[in-house]
Amino acid sequence: PQSKLPSLGTTIFTQMSALAQQHQAINLSQGFPDFDGPRYLQERLAHHVSQGANQYAPMTGVQALREAIAQKTAALYGHAPDANSDITVTAGATEALYAAITALVRQGDEVICFDPSYDSYAPAIALSGGVVKRIALTPPHFRVDWQAFDGLLSEKTRLVILNTPHNPSATVWQKADFDALWQAIVGREIYVLSDEVYEHICFARDGHASVLAHPQLRERAVAVSSFGKTYHMTGWKVGYCVAPAAISAELRKVHQYLTFAVNTPAQLALADMLRDEPAHYRELPAFYRARRDLFINALSQSRLEILPCEGTYFLLADYSAISDLDDVSFCRWLTTEVGVAAIPLSVFCADPFPHKLIRLCFAKQPSTLLAAAERLCRL
Ligand code: PMP
Ligand code: GLN
Repeated sequence: PQSKLPSLGTTIFTQMSALAQQHQAINLSQGFPDFDGPRYLQERLAHHVSQGANQYAPMTGVQALREAIAQKTAALYGHAPDANSDITVTAGATEALYAAITALVRQGDEVICFDPSYDSYAPAIALSGGVVKRIALTPPHFRVDWQAFDGLLSEKTRLVILNTPHNPSATVWQKADFDALWQAIVGREIYVLSDEVYEHICFARDGHASVLAHPQLRERAVAVSSFGKTYHMTGWKVGYCVAPAAISAELRKVHQYLTFAVNTPAQLALADMLRDEPAHYRELPAFYRARRDLFINALSQSRLEILPCEGTYFLLADYSAISDLDDVSFCRWLTTEVGVAAIPLSVFCADPFPHKLIRLCFAKQPSTLLAAAERLCRL
């Protein structure tokens, strides 16, 4: 058939993980932990399966899980979404993003993205007939130039997609960034899609700034999160989005025919986990900060220049002192010859990205991180 996405191949994550496996490299490319999630969560899953909770969940998500999400949101961001009308459980954040984009973007609408940007946004926009307008963020701070942002706005702008903590740059938005966004779009009919899958992996002094904490923006925003990140279980593929009732109603129309409903026993187990073990997500920043610092410390003798990391489980490293290769070639070489797989940054950008940066995932056991650092220090 004639392709609807002719320029698209398999994702860089799939490619690099396959290359890592082929060469038995330490895989710091695709973002997933090499350790298991909480025992309690696994036990609750087994419990609900054994109790026969094995049929379709409600389309919008299991009630107990939506209520637990509502309570967590209220406790963390000072906004209590309605569990019935404002919260939708999805098959990972990927489905939430797709459903929100499909519901909001019409043929010819413009969508503003900040590059580097996560790979799933642009294809979803393209399939809805939308046009991506990109703001390039530059290292090391990847801050938004709000004047450039204003210059991109037009009558056709329909949606802004942001991601904080940000994959791949590991930077975070502050409240002031949300204020600036609000100032820029107030008075226009523009929606906001805030990808906050790393909301609980934030090292910033003031903690994670969520769009849900912004009283005006949240009235036209969809906030997306993922239990895969929070509970070290990327394979469970359960996420959710929070949005005002009118927006939720639209994205539920898409969700209803994309997946209809999500894994029932996993949702029940996640509801138990949120309710019974809130300390888990509250302790996550300290947990990942320790791994980040261990890895940075182990890399201190290497010729890689490490960039600041305020959130996510990714670390950026500049390899200009080591090689003149472009980042894609460097990552392939690193995997096949050095035995460490990483992700090149340029793949997250539509325009040429002239920096020599790679992304290393530190959601790994200390022994994995030390072994990888030892190899990287030889360069
Ligand atoms: N957004 C970002 C920024 C991500 O990094 C990821 C996963 N790596 C996702 C969305 C997708 O999350 P999920 O696995 O829950 O679909
Ligand atoms: N989001 C993960 C990452 O950034 C990968 C997810 C995927 O493989 N699609 O590494």
